Amino acid sequence: MSEPGVKHAPRRVINIGSASIGGESLLVMAGPCTVEDEEMLIATALAVRQAGALVLRGGAFKPRTSPSSYQGMGRPALEMLQRAAKLAGMSVVTEVLDTREVETVAENADIIQVGSRNMHNTALLKEVGRTGRPVLLKRGMSSTLAEWLAAAEYIFATGNDDIILCERGIRTFETATRNTLDLSAVSLLREITGLPVIVDPSHSTGKRSLVAPMSRAAVAAGADGLIIEVHPQPEIALCDGPQSLRPEEFAILMGQVQRVRETIKSF
Ligand code: PEP
Ligand code: MN
Repeated sequence: MSEPGVKHAPRRVINIGSASIGGESLLVMAGPCTVEDEEMLIATALAVRQAGALVLRGGAFKPRTSPSSYQGMGRPALEMLQRAAKLAGMSVVTEVLDTREVETVAENADIIQVGSRNMHNTALLKEVGRTGRPVLLKRGMSSTLAEWLAAAEYIFATGNDDIILCERGIRTFETATRNTLDLSAVSLLREITGLPVIVDPSHSTGKRSLVAPMSRAAVAAGADGLIIEVHPQPEIALCDGPQSLRPEEFAILMGQVQRVRETIKSF
């Protein structure tokens, strides 16, 4: 796909287990906001895998705005993620918050996530880069594209160029949505970098009903993948229930985004 007069950077394809991102096919990562218990995690993994997601997401360490909110189960959740992903035939993406946990997270994850609140944490970027694992680098919620790419440079500087950029919405004056999804960033990044770019329609909207339309729009804008929160019972989720899709809603959405992807191939 290319726009008239626009020269796109050569694409970088990153292998994730038996899948890849940045090439022909869309890579979808899905799972709960946070790991709550093993049974729920396995049920979610099997359901999203069945619908076509190849990477299981789930937070073991949660970067919560309030210290009194659930902070995540920690290390035991990393093992649960491993087991659930293996059972479902998936890879794992999970967030690391602290340089002291990088090694443990790297041992248990196929992709290490650096969250929005840590995009400027240069010590963490360097440590994560040195593991050699693919890194999912979320955009800081108040960061410009230049700042975001400078954060990616910290990872590059360690010799690791397996970086996936994730647009997860930015802070604006608008309060009707949790954040404002900047889809122009997706198309612009594809012009100026060869790195895979994905979109998080869950944290960018904060609202279940907006996840499907923004996912379709993201794929139409050229996103290489999506990361979506899915929970079997969002009404009792420990974290981010209002923006989590039910497995059946996710399955319908997967069919739709594949159709959008096919359509734009001919543009
Ligand atoms: C997450 O993906 O679990 C998360 C906390 O997202 P963000 O860093 O974008 O807020
Ligand atoms: Mn969440």
